[in-house]
Amino acid sequence: MDRQQEFVLRTIEERDVRFVRLWFTDVVGALKSVALAPAEVEGVFSEGLGFDGSSIEGFSRVFESDMLLRPDPSTFQILPWRSEDEPTSRMFCDILTPDQEISAADPRAVLRRQLDRAADMGFTCYTHPEIEFYLLDSERAEGGVPVPVDQAGYFDHVTGSVSQDFRRHVVSMLESVGISVEFSHHEAGPGQNEIDLRYADALTTADNIMTFRTVIKEVAVMQGKYATFMPKPFTEHPGSGMHTHFGLFEGDANAFYAPNAEYNLSKIARQFIAGVLAHAAEFTAVTNQFVNSYKRLWGGGEAPSHISWGHNNRSALMRVPLYKPTKGGSARVEFRGVDSAANPYLAYAMVIGAGLKGIQEEYELPEAITEDVWSLTTAERKAMGIKPLPGTLHDAIRQMEESELVAEVLGEQVFENLLRNKQAEWDDYRVNVSPFEIQRYLGQI
Ligand code: GLU
Ligand code: MG
Ligand code: MG
Repeated sequence: MDRQQEFVLRTIEERDVRFVRLWFTDVVGALKSVALAPAEVEGVFSEGLGFDGSSIEGFSRVFESDMLLRPDPSTFQILPWRSEDEPTSRMFCDILTPDQEISAADPRAVLRRQLDRAADMGFTCYTHPEIEFYLLDSERAEGGVPVPVDQAGYFDHVTGSVSQDFRRHVVSMLESVGISVEFSHHEAGPGQNEIDLRYADALTTADNIMTFRTVIKEVAVMQGKYATFMPKPFTEHPGSGMHTHFGLFEGDANAFYAPNAEYNLSKIARQFIAGVLAHAAEFTAVTNQFVNSYKRLWGGGEAPSHISWGHNNRSALMRVPLYKPTKGGSARVEFRGVDSAANPYLAYAMVIGAGLKGIQEEYELPEAITEDVWSLTTAERKAMGIKPLPGTLHDAIRQMEESELVAEVLGEQVFENLLRNKQAEWDDYRVNVSPFEIQRYLGQI
């Protein structure tokens, strides 16, 4: 038993923890949980906990259904939303095959593989997500339209408002599970909020996002509300993005920073951006995995619809944010494509995988775009070489199917499983007759 495992066992005893939840994530990013009695934890550390992988989306085929969970002791946390009388804790798990090999189907393993690849090249990858979501009165939509908790807008301060109170609760709960929050504010849509997590290594960030979603949902329920990470719940209001800032470090030095270069961007940063742009269309089905995701990408509201980069240009897919020249260490690039409903492990693995490929193969970065890409005409965009992101899930699946990079980064099993899952979703969607069609056609034709 190692020291971290011993620490977990000691804490369970000292804090009289009653339940130990083992958390893991399926291929579409849904959190899975199984509760252990404290007495079982020691045995599970050494032998793992068996479960039926064939019942989890994207995990294993029926003939290889026996899988094992191995808790990662460094992720042990007491959960603050359970009562003091019955302290509950959680650990994230790695997924193993019955022979104790890392399972190729585990999204955490997919991300870890890219981070190992980065480490082999001398880099550590740091990430900082800006997570947007809507706070609603309830899960029910009235007349097909969800009801937001307020009518406020970007950065609005509403005295005594539900959103403000909600954010205060969430932030203190996140801090108590060791997740630091940098900013939180009201976003542009009614009931829409944003919470930005502080920099952490990419695997910790992805774990933090899974915890974050759970905390948000739990606090909303406690306050008699409902929180949604649906990418575009309202036709006429902005969608919910999960813009993420990426930075590569070589030891203590920021590998993206070059003091005298254009926008202070190093060659490595330029190649990383070039890699992401070159492959963005191929991996959009991963960063924007639902039918509804494309209503955000193509529905305005400051979401990117085309593939370009720019300095402080909010219509760009990749944005190089402003930072104080004295703070070279904070050089980073913001990827604005990913939405709040993505599987964070797979989405980050794709962005990092594409960026590393750009570095390895020394991709050339096209010109930065200073214009507002949304207001250009199609002909202008064509002349400038600005290509569109996929317009629908169908389009995204077709581009992903052809991608060697996506197959390589996800690994064959996750690649096949995700494609199968997404194709089934598209098939369901395309035969569905929507309220839009009834309204538009029934009375006219
Ligand atoms: N809500 C926008 C999106 O879906 C982003 C707004 C912002 O720039 O924060 O990407
Ligand atoms: Mg925002
Ligand atoms: Mg942003």
